[in-house]
Amino acid sequence: MLDQLYQEVILDHNKSPRNFGELEEASHSAEGHNPLCGDKVKVFLDVEDGTIEDIRFQGAGCAISTASASLMTEALKGKTLEEAKELFELFHQVVTGKREASPEEMGKLAVFQGVQKYPVRVKCASLAWHTVLAALKQRDEAVTTE
Ligand code: ZN
Repeated sequence: MLDQLYQEVILDHNKSPRNFGELEEASHSAEGHNPLCGDKVKVFLDVEDGTIEDIRFQGAGCAISTASASLMTEALKGKTLEEAKELFELFHQVVTGKREASPEEMGKLAVFQGVQKYPVRVKCASLAWHTVLAALKQRDEAVTTE
């Protein structure tokens, strides 16, 4: 039952990704690539006074990577950089099976808990997050999940 709900959220975000597109006045951007699966993502952030005012992404990849990028943009919009980094830590621990997801802490991001059973998919799910982190660090080179 829960698995089915999770699947529906992922399929929905893959079919109609939220915050998809370019952000012309982006203060930060970066590109990420997951060579294992072929997922590519580009993220754009508009950060003002330490808060993510707007965030968008572009790219092509598998359903997990697209849904993850889409759900991530929803989760990060309006967050402070500190909160964003905490959420990334939590997300990373959950997808790698180091801890349980609680919907109170993670909201819809909890749907990626099932990914921990498929190590190859962990990279798909975390690609967009690694890319945002790279953008915030203002690194210009493209990141890979390797
Ligand atoms: Zn993938």
